[in-house]
Amino acid sequence: MPDGFEGLGLGDEVLRAIEDLGYEEPSPIQAQAIPALLAGGDVIAQAQTGTGKTAAYSIPIVERVVAGDRTVQAAVIVPTRELAVQVAEAVHALGRVRGVTVVPLYGGQPYDRQLRALRGGVQVVVGTPGRVMDHIRRGTLELDTVRTLVLDEADEMLDMGFIEDIEFILDKVPAERQIGLFSATIPARIEDLAQSYLREPRRVTIQQETATAPQTRQFWYQVPYRAKLDVLTLILDFESPQSAIIFCRTKREVDALTEALEARGYKTAAIHGDISQGQREQQLRAFRDGRVELLVATDVAARGLDIPDVTHVINYDIPDDADAYVHRIGRTGRMGKKGEAVTLITPREMRLLRLIEQQTRTKMKPLRLPTVEDIVARRREAYLEALRTTIDARAGNTYADVFAALAPDYEAREIALAALYLADGGEVPARTDGTRPEAESDDDVRAAEAAPSEHGMVRLFLDAGRKRGVSPQELLREFSDQAGVAPTTVGSIDVYDRFAFVEVKPGSAKKLLAHPQLTLHGLPVNLKKATPKRP
Ligand code: AMP
Repeated sequence: MPDGFEGLGLGDEVLRAIEDLGYEEPSPIQAQAIPALLAGGDVIAQAQTGTGKTAAYSIPIVERVVAGDRTVQAAVIVPTRELAVQVAEAVHALGRVRGVTVVPLYGGQPYDRQLRALRGGVQVVVGTPGRVMDHIRRGTLELDTVRTLVLDEADEMLDMGFIEDIEFILDKVPAERQIGLFSATIPARIEDLAQSYLREPRRVTIQQETATAPQTRQFWYQVPYRAKLDVLTLILDFESPQSAIIFCRTKREVDALTEALEARGYKTAAIHGDISQGQREQQLRAFRDGRVELLVATDVAARGLDIPDVTHVINYDIPDDADAYVHRIGRTGRMGKKGEAVTLITPREMRLLRLIEQQTRTKMKPLRLPTVEDIVARRREAYLEALRTTIDARAGNTYADVFAALAPDYEAREIALAALYLADGGEVPARTDGTRPEAESDDDVRAAEAAPSEHGMVRLFLDAGRKRGVSPQELLREFSDQAGVAPTTVGSIDVYDRFAFVEVKPGSAKKLLAHPQLTLHGLPVNLKKATPKRP
């Protein structure tokens, strides 16, 4: 456990729970709010989802819970059912080692289930204003033993018209209590509420440092939480990054993501605080050498490390503040190189994104998710680009001998197309006749190449030669008999072992090419326009 959390005055049990969650160090809001809340005072924290605000108040709550006391010691009021469940889960996870009991209370769930939990002796309740108020009215919940009350997303609750319910609840807690007011914005009505109910609150905000982001193209995708992995792989396929660092919030997330990516066939290196120094070096070396293209990391592990410039920074989890954001994306686009930063954002984290934009004075561009067609088109583009670069660099010259070996038998275009196919991962097709064709004799090859077509004549290629008994005389006769081609319109005739070239006037070429099927010695022959072997 790095000093980060240890310096905050927490007990071993909670530190262990934090460690189990994979947090490496407190987020900025936590570093400020935790000590203040532990000291028992009131706190107003301006913090959005994604800043680690939930743990910022849940950690002090579980730390302050008196273990043997089975009364309600803390209450957290949140705007939505979803958040109630999330917060209750966080409190449970953080308080697990201490045996802290917690229940979420929200509308839509039968009362009796919540009642049973409440009667069992719950130490922390997390509820929506309406349902908490209902329980108080029914006498099924009493807040007179509460020592900590947290209002989370206070501005949202205000917008949703819960302000009177909140005041009702605030009036039910004892005078000797602390209040934590967490809100993304502090509108006047919330400020008034704080004035009436909080005593000398400590104000906590993420520092409004104006960090400026480097010249990196910055994008974001809005993604439902559950779809993050799928979206990441879609992006990886679409962008095909040469080298990318993927940032996660926690050590656990790094492990889980690395495993998931490996399972999907992406070679991935991973670093975080629990990975031994030797292992980390090894992972980094693989990444630096380009043996793996992806490095999954926590902020802490990536800090201060000599990581080479990468083509992409991917924020799998949004960083908790602008400084961390700038630090992360500073890994790309250095020294005039092209860089891209892509951030995945869940709908709830939109406000944090806006805040980061504001503080870094940059506008990130929203992107829609790529479709399969986009990915195909993008790959083609990348392939073309790679080919252009390779051609310009003459990097293919080492294959000149391979080309030379093929050139006698195939057109340059055919060779190029086959090479493109194989280079793109195409499989070698099975030969239909199961044999390798015999090479033409050297004589044939040289002769064929040495014969450019005469001016005004069309050079035709015939797939039958000496081995099928073809002779110039015979060709003249058969062309005349079968296609009505006058021998006077025929120029040079070159017959080789397996093929022949015949030059004819354009009109005759037309006649011959249009002929449905020429035969020689009773067997069909194919005729086509010869393409020049070499320019
Ligand atoms: P919140 O702002 O409370 O919605 O938290 C956002 C996410 O950050 C949650 O998934 C938390 O589990 C995670 N988180 C909270 N504190 C830390 C921390 N100190 N280090 C890493 N992750 C954290």
